[in-house]
Amino acid sequence: MSDNPEARFASDAYFLGPKSENAAWVRGEFQAILDHWFDWRRSLFTDDPEAISPERRLSTEFLRERERLGQAVRILREKLCAEVPTFTPRYVGHMVSEVSLPALLGHFATLLHNPNNTSRDVARVGGVIEDEAIAMLAGMVGYDPALAQGHFTGGGTVANFEAVWRARYRMDHCLSLALQGYESRGERFDAFEAAHIGWDAFEAQRAESGAIEAELRGCSGVLGNPFDYGERLTRATGRPWRGPVLITPGNKHFSWRKAANVFGLGEEAFWNAPLDAQGRFDLGGLDALIARARDEGRPVLAIVSVAGTTEAGEIDPVDGVCDRLDALRAEGIDIWHHVDAAYGGFFCSMLGGAAEHCLEPGRVRALGAIARADSVTLDPHKLGYVPYACGAFLTRDVRGYVASSFQAPYIDRAATNDKWACTLEGSRTASGAAATWLTGRSIGFGPGRFGDMLRSTIETRMAFQSAIAAAIPDARFLPADSNILCFSLARPGEALSQSNQRTGEVFTRLQGDPAFSVSRTVMSAQSYDALMQAHVASWDGEYDSDQLVLLRCVFMNPFWSNPDVERALLPAFIETLQTHLG
Ligand SMILES: *Cc1c(COP(=O)(O)O)cnc(C)c1O
Repeated sequence: MSDNPEARFASDAYFLGPKSENAAWVRGEFQAILDHWFDWRRSLFTDDPEAISPERRLSTEFLRERERLGQAVRILREKLCAEVPTFTPRYVGHMVSEVSLPALLGHFATLLHNPNNTSRDVARVGGVIEDEAIAMLAGMVGYDPALAQGHFTGGGTVANFEAVWRARYRMDHCLSLALQGYESRGERFDAFEAAHIGWDAFEAQRAESGAIEAELRGCSGVLGNPFDYGERLTRATGRPWRGPVLITPGNKHFSWRKAANVFGLGEEAFWNAPLDAQGRFDLGGLDALIARARDEGRPVLAIVSVAGTTEAGEIDPVDGVCDRLDALRAEGIDIWHHVDAAYGGFFCSMLGGAAEHCLEPGRVRALGAIARADSVTLDPHKLGYVPYACGAFLTRDVRGYVASSFQAPYIDRAATNDKWACTLEGSRTASGAAATWLTGRSIGFGPGRFGDMLRSTIETRMAFQSAIAAAIPDARFLPADSNILCFSLARPGEALSQSNQRTGEVFTRLQGDPAFSVSRTVMSAQSYDALMQAHVASWDGEYDSDQLVLLRCVFMNPFWSNPDVERALLPAFIETLQTHLG
């Protein structure tokens, strides 16, 4: 059994509790927020007349309308009782769990004021809170909060798009300069090399060339006609222009395919790096892909590594990717590195404290290396325990935050109060930022409470793994880096296809049983071949299918760190599983 008193302190005080144990004082906090809001409205423009008179509020017509609304609210309330009960520790299905009290209160309080963080004109306070919350997240992942830039998004998908958007602008700046050099002075260039000179060399070469803004704009692929641009690049590089590529590991989230589609890359340009037997980014494979892009004269728009894969919570060797990119940088090849830490970024809160010891040393190094990447995606609405919809996109420095063609110097652009110029989304809520801010101000994003709480979720995964292994010898576990447990059910020697069949059937039966919620995931040999080989070998099975069906449990609920909860519910979970094994 896990023993983590610090984590319990955090979960007990910062969550409502599965039985609404903290209801009394939470009601008081909500009440105080409402009263304060009512008073704030009354305190402004005190001489203005009341718009809804007491007599009107007592009229029959008015009361009828009030009743109509009350009725509709009751209907909604009743409907919501059929909603998935993600608050209970029995819910270990997808990447969602109970939200924290600071997040809920921060979200609610801000909702009442309804700021629009698109611009300071309509979010005088919301925008400031957003900047402060971004600085907190920057500190958590190891960026210098004074240099890092970022904003909240509608989720991880949009945050990943933000990275591609910026990487595309950076590439376009560099290629425009090279194209301008060719067209005005006949300087032939290699697109791979020209696209990766990095900001310092770009500034220096631009100054040296004396190219003015209008000339660069005339050579921009973002601004110009894409077909003309292709022909011009073909002439300038002496080889057919085939566009950039985006390198992602095979364990990436579906949002990357969407990004390739949205940014017009063509799925051909969406290169999958192979995975090792652990299901993590294979660095040898990365080298080969970079070499191929270089060979083919195609820029690498960005390399993505994943900290906390959606399927299994695996943490890629981010440090290894950084080391390789640093070595290339020494040769003058500066490739954008984005870390998709939508799920696992909050594990950075464990670093530097006792909490980190429940991670493998290699995973600690990987999480620590996010600080070296150009940009990162975080999803506070996952392991930040913040309500939907709340993602975040951050860059290590202001130059990486540029999201413009050549109209305005990027420093001015980033410093502006109008975020809309730097965000894919237009109108944006301040609620997610405030939920994150209030979490940072109370629980904090350090190893002390938050990190201990996340450590307890990993210990819960370990406790489940031991208990399942002891009770069900046919359970075959995937390697696990964090708080997600994936396993299949296979008898010694049997074929993968048979195991898939059994695991799938058990999942269907579990789905029909309200006692616990788990999820199912299917891995394909196209991405996970090495892992699948090792997995099937663990029961001497026959590798006869290109798919691997798995039961998946995501342990986010903080109350599993309570020994009473674990004592009561873990055996019940094992029993449920055994019942459905057939
Ligand atoms: C969840 C997730 C996303 C997408 O985030 P949304 O908030 O669902 O848009 C992207 N990448 C990873 C690794 C994720 O786990």
